[in-house]
Amino acid sequence: MFLIIISRYFLIAGMFHLWFYVWKKDKWVKRSLSRKVTDKKQFYTEVKWSMVTSIIFAVAASFTFVLWQKGYTRLYVDVNKYSLWYLPVSLLISVLIHETYYYWLHRWMHKPKVFRVLHKVHHDSNITSPWTAFSFHPLEGLLQAIILPLTIIIIPIHVFVLLFQLTIMTFSSVINHLEIETYPANFYKHFIGKWIIGATHHSLHHKQFRYNFGLYFTFWDKLKKTESPRFLSLFEEKTAKSLRTEAKRDQE
Ligand SMILES: [Zn+2]
Ligand SMILES: [Zn+2]
Repeated sequence: MFLIIISRYFLIAGMFHLWFYVWKKDKWVKRSLSRKVTDKKQFYTEVKWSMVTSIIFAVAASFTFVLWQKGYTRLYVDVNKYSLWYLPVSLLISVLIHETYYYWLHRWMHKPKVFRVLHKVHHDSNITSPWTAFSFHPLEGLLQAIILPLTIIIIPIHVFVLLFQLTIMTFSSVINHLEIETYPANFYKHFIGKWIIGATHHSLHHKQFRYNFGLYFTFWDKLKKTESPRFLSLFEEKTAKSLRTEAKRDQE
């Protein structure tokens, strides 16, 4: 389990690192959310904490596997056990549970006393990178690891839906910590796009601390008025600059 989880981290974070910071660096530099890039010291620290998180996730996964074997979960393998429409619906339910759990957990972790113990490790990365995606204190890692096992004890979920959700989780975390805005211009005006968290959104969380607590979606932040007032202008600035560059390149 540990090997699967840590390889997934290295593979996905590594892919994004190479593409955005090395191979296509020039193309994305205009969309960078920080002037500075992270140094080697931060990289090693983040990889160290991500390895600790991977151990915790692996223990949680193994524990869940045993629960499943003993019949304590509602995880299922036969696709026809429920209607096919239930597959996407169960994914949506599980993702919304995860979102709600994380938003409130995250708000709680920002209380000063809790922050110092649980959440400071993650925020030591003021400028984030794909490697920040799983850089958590072990206690935060544990609190994050328990929600999916709890969900599948209560709600029937197909095993592939669960694996798919874990994949979304990894990609979403890497994209949100990329420190380069990857979404197209006006994405936040799109009827789906405006509900999805991206790099600008989460970068502001790491810099301002008081806003943007969501995990995948923006709806809790919008509802509880914790969305950063800087978000829209910064997103427009980052995506417009790149458009201007492209237009300039077209003219040349
Ligand atoms: Zn935070
Ligand atoms: Zn973060």
